[in-house]
Amino acid sequence: MTDRLMIEGVAVSPHHYIGGKRVSSPTTFETRSPMNWDNLLGNIARGDGQTADLAVTAATEAFPAWAALTSKERAAYMHRLADLIEENKEKIAIAECMDMAMLQESLELRLVPRGALNFRNYADLAVEHEERVWDSKGTHNRVIRMPAGPAVIITPWNAPFMLSTWKVAPALAAGNTVILKPAEWSPLSASLLADMVDQAGFPPGVFNVVQGMGYEVGNALVNDPRVKRISFTGSVPTARIIGKAAAENVVPFTAELGGKSCLLVFEDADIDAAAKKAAGQYDDSGQVCMCGSRIIVQESIAEEFEKKFHEYTDKHIMGDSKNGDTTMSAMIHPTHVERVMGFIERARENGDEIVRGGKKYKEDGLWVEPTLIKPKNNDSEVVQSEIFGPVLTFQTFKTEEEGVALANSTVFGLSGIVYTGSRDRAERVGRAVRGGTVWVNTFLVRDLTAPFGGIGLSGLGREGGHYALEFHSDLKTLQILEDSTS
Ligand code: NAD
Repeated sequence: MTDRLMIEGVAVSPHHYIGGKRVSSPTTFETRSPMNWDNLLGNIARGDGQTADLAVTAATEAFPAWAALTSKERAAYMHRLADLIEENKEKIAIAECMDMAMLQESLELRLVPRGALNFRNYADLAVEHEERVWDSKGTHNRVIRMPAGPAVIITPWNAPFMLSTWKVAPALAAGNTVILKPAEWSPLSASLLADMVDQAGFPPGVFNVVQGMGYEVGNALVNDPRVKRISFTGSVPTARIIGKAAAENVVPFTAELGGKSCLLVFEDADIDAAAKKAAGQYDDSGQVCMCGSRIIVQESIAEEFEKKFHEYTDKHIMGDSKNGDTTMSAMIHPTHVERVMGFIERARENGDEIVRGGKKYKEDGLWVEPTLIKPKNNDSEVVQSEIFGPVLTFQTFKTEEEGVALANSTVFGLSGIVYTGSRDRAERVGRAVRGGTVWVNTFLVRDLTAPFGGIGLSGLGREGGHYALEFHSDLKTLQILEDSTS
């Protein structure tokens, strides 16, 4: 097996990174570029139970020394890592763009810099943390936050670099060691992160990457009793499996899962802005967990809104994600394209109206046309299931109450988008819409200190800010009897 793959001039290791060393596996899996499926980017080490054992051993052995450092000492490593991410942002963007087809420009300008920010923010948050101290019932009390142990972090294939740094940073800042298992459909940028961790001088075993299938190496990792935290982002079926492993070992587990978010537009809204944002839900071919995939518009403005929506959607350009003009990237994998097309076929059979799109863009490519469906009713599969592709539904309502009821009518609750010109309605509907995050008249604006997570089948627990630091810590209350010591 080669030491380095060359991805458009960027050298990426196809091996695991365990205990500060590159480790290979006897078997491999392929990673191909969604922009051209004939382009085999390389064969990646396919970890197994033994690989998982090696990684958990390395993380367990590295834990006491890493946990014993002060937050400030850990922060120095993390800031060095953030500097390296910033220095290498172009390389990371190229590798990730080739691997999962996310637009190179948005990776370079937005998502990779966010990765660096994740490390900076958590480094600083941990340093700024102050212990709660108080006197009560004749005792001095103090809440102490202790590192928990090795943390397993399992990430999905969409936005892999940003999403993994979002989870790795709080674990490291809290004093835990980490084993990252990226998704098998986009493994490359995690390997680059390992290179930068190495260059930043982190002690061996503090951060490890294992590559491979979820049901093989991933499964072995989450079942290892030495693991003290599991942080997962992905689909509901996988969360159920991992949740059982977490329950077996009584290990805290967070799950950031799928969504079926609304884009709820009221007649008092800026219709043009709302229609533009709705057409923008096709960006990244809808492979975004927070995608406002259910457009729900007040009847009185539905016609005008739809006209503008089509005008904006017509401007989308499907193509190579390295090209600055492209707005809709290829989808991740042929299997995923077939899955998305299956939803469209079943919608046709169900009698839902396919208003636009509904076809592959080119038979030999992984693009699906931006698709809009008017469902027969609210029970249609396309309204109730996460499609995770460029397929949006369009529904209308008469009253605010009806609009909110439609918005809240799925098993998910990750986020919501509301468009209204009224401040009162913004507050009222913003509170009423079920979701871990609700944006009014905007979308995807993120404050990294805010909690993030889902309600219902969209997830368990909250990440972001001090919520993630707390998840990665064991809390202790220390009580000392007053006047009993000198
Ligand atoms: P997935 O559940 O198939 O896979 C996610 C990860 O879990 C992969 O790394 C996979 O290898 C691993 N895995 C699979 N089986 C496992 C097992 N038995 N044990 C341990 N690990 C296992 O999800 P996906 O298709 O990669 O990602 C898409 C999903 O992720 C969508 O539902 C999307 O909405 C969701 N997502 C949610 C957020 C969020 O923040 N809420 C963000 C991005 C994606």
